[in-house]
Amino acid sequence: MQLNTQIYQTQIDIENRILRACKHTSRKRSDVKLIAVSKRQEADRIQASLEAGFRCFGENQVQEALTRWLPLTSIYPDLELHLIGALQSNKAADAVRLFDVIHTIDRDKIAKAVSVEMKKQNKQLSCFIQVNTGLESQKSGIVPEKAVEFAKICAHDYGLIVEGFMCIPPIEEDASPHFAFLNKLASQAGLASLSMGMSADFEDAIRLGATHIRIGSAFFGKRAY
Ligand SMILES: *Cc1c(COP(=O)(O)O)cnc(C)c1O
Repeated sequence: MQLNTQIYQTQIDIENRILRACKHTSRKRSDVKLIAVSKRQEADRIQASLEAGFRCFGENQVQEALTRWLPLTSIYPDLELHLIGALQSNKAADAVRLFDVIHTIDRDKIAKAVSVEMKKQNKQLSCFIQVNTGLESQKSGIVPEKAVEFAKICAHDYGLIVEGFMCIPPIEEDASPHFAFLNKLASQAGLASLSMGMSADFEDAIRLGATHIRIGSAFFGKRAY
């Protein structure tokens, strides 16, 4: 009961912060989707958020997500699951089976694997293309200068439904310039959606046009490991 109350209260707090950020920039609340990032969270916290009525979750590992969410999909048929971590092509079948949206398409091989699986499973997912705005060598994502062209290839050659761009700014930098840059790239590509903003910076992301914010620790508390 105590945990449920706590999670419920946190959800209300975050909701109010989102509302305020939307108001500030004359954006509609309905134009910003909140994805609760449940990776490495204790099951009781996730259960509490489900009981509070929350249904939209993000995971960064296919295997962890399968273990956690597959048993829950029959209990909560209105779940909406987002893959926000790097995808390997040998996990494409599982990813397409479980998720509704993939935020991390970043190279031909993955675009192709996802496309093949969607046809096989007769299931159309929405996709985001991850852009490595900080040009970090250890981070996934396509380099910015190729992003617009790659979005076209994904749509035309692979038949993906490309909603928009996603980024994870370098941890030690101010995120706002990255958000503004991603917004500009999306306009150039004619894409409507932007997956950007996490616990530390989601209000800035909303101010700079985020349509999908991915909030983990501020929503559930500190991760288990
Ligand atoms: C873990 C993760 C998040 C959430 O991070 P918090 O700082 O806990 O909000 C968002 N996006 C991605 C891609 C992540 O891996």
